[in-house]
Amino acid sequence: MKKCDLDPSHWEAMAADRTKWRRTIKDKVCEFESRRREQLDARRDELKARPPAAIQYTYIGGVLTCSECGRTFTAKIGFVSHWRTHQRSSQN
Ligand SMILES: [Zn+2]
Repeated sequence: MKKCDLDPSHWEAMAADRTKWRRTIKDKVCEFESRRREQLDARRDELKARPPAAIQYTYIGGVLTCSECGRTFTAKIGFVSHWRTHQRSSQN
């Protein structure tokens, strides 16, 4: 009820008039739902707006290959881990 901007302290008085109560609940829930969807859309847009990862996968002959040392990988996660070691060594 609080998320729908309904004061829970005197809902019983408001619910005495059943027709008005049902109309109020329906409207408030619709407002809440549209607000919730807008927030989810904004959150999704924020996530999708992130810059792409700095890692570029280079496939040579269909095999994932490190562009710096030529090592080949079967799994992307192995390549990512290896790529981080190159970045760490270049920073030092
Ligand atoms: Zn490498």
